[in-house]
Amino acid sequence: MTRAFKTLDDLGDVTGQRVLVREDLNVPMDDGRVTDDTRLRATLPTVTELADKGAIVLVLAHFGRPKGQRNPEMSLALVVKPYEQVLGRPVRFIDDQGAADAIATMRPGDIGVIENTRFDPGEEANAPATIDRLAALGDIYVNDAFSAAHRAHASTEGLAHRLPAYAGRAMEAELDALDKALGNPEHPVAAVVGGAKVSTKLDVLKHLVAKVDHLIIGGGMANTFLAARGVDVGKSLCEHDLTATADAIMDAADRAGCTVHLPYDVVVAKEFAANPSSLRTCNVHEVAADEMILDIGPAATEALADVLKTCRTLVWNGPLGAFETPPFDTATVTLARTAAALTREGSLVSVAGGGDTVAALNQAGVADRFTFVSTAGGAFLEWMEGRELPGVAALAG
Ligand code: ADP
Ligand code: MG
Repeated sequence: MTRAFKTLDDLGDVTGQRVLVREDLNVPMDDGRVTDDTRLRATLPTVTELADKGAIVLVLAHFGRPKGQRNPEMSLALVVKPYEQVLGRPVRFIDDQGAADAIATMRPGDIGVIENTRFDPGEEANAPATIDRLAALGDIYVNDAFSAAHRAHASTEGLAHRLPAYAGRAMEAELDALDKALGNPEHPVAAVVGGAKVSTKLDVLKHLVAKVDHLIIGGGMANTFLAARGVDVGKSLCEHDLTATADAIMDAADRAGCTVHLPYDVVVAKEFAANPSSLRTCNVHEVAADEMILDIGPAATEALADVLKTCRTLVWNGPLGAFETPPFDTATVTLARTAAALTREGSLVSVAGGGDTVAALNQAGVADRFTFVSTAGGAFLEWMEGRELPGVAALAG
């Protein structure tokens, strides 16, 4: 496969070379403990590969939002111990003051973490002086943080223009998966777009109608589309001011040959609570004035499973219902399991992303059975909008 960017496979001998590796170490912490080490684990392939090849590995990352000020509560020194445990190797903390001297004492195979890039106001400003300061610390730049690639910061974008630049293993895997899902997918392609509001995903919807064969709309945003079609959605979450926009999206889909799937049955309740006594399933035309749509119905879910069976590619962002509250996770869990089974059979490439979407797939117990699940959040959504990510574009040269 020819790619627009270089990977670690394109590196020559790195023995003794200082490699600046941009990673995402922005882990949630509580009382000095890392509560979810997913991001630390994601750095393992790149960091260990480079260290094993004899590089001097210098990890660059941000931590929290210090807004260009030094802040001991957001020092990456706090992450060094947990990071050592995940890596199973010693990790040196490198203060950004006197960094060059500290690095000069490091040996091939050593791993260091440089202080929070965002302590320097020039990081987010992508300032030439900051890029110079960082570039002087290394010989090679590796960007392994897709989740920060939607930001044009010194450590995510600027450095790629100053040093020989490569994608790390996690970045490479993410870009390959996203390319298979929307860049160069096998058709038919289905997109599931759910979540609370149309307004947060307008650009996603506009981009997808031109790219995919089936656009499956669920979640609260389906209510706005249903309202646009003249359905009375009762007390449901619905952006009535966006019905004309929803209409325009459906027209654009028509012109592009994209089939829009809206639910024809729904799960409703009078109050938003777990297993409410007012729970019932009905046709979308039978929602009462005092009811809310909180999930799509079983008939719609089954029809959508049939759509997925005809598809080769699935890209999914946003739950189909208010999945945090049972039983309104039913459609999301059921369709996710169908997608996982089709993926396992080899008939579907399935890529999903989004904070709540990842939580929902974990709840369904299928996150590891999708082809790829992106934990990148903002960067994943910008990619779904068809935007060029500055950190990725800079790797392409
Ligand atoms: P993601 O984080 O994966 O991008 P969103 O943040 O867009 O997803 O949407 C997730 C939220 O949408 C969840 O909190 C879920 O409860 C809510 N949601 C889904 N369907 C409905 C619905 N019918 N009514 C109200 N909220 C809904
Ligand atoms: Mg969300």
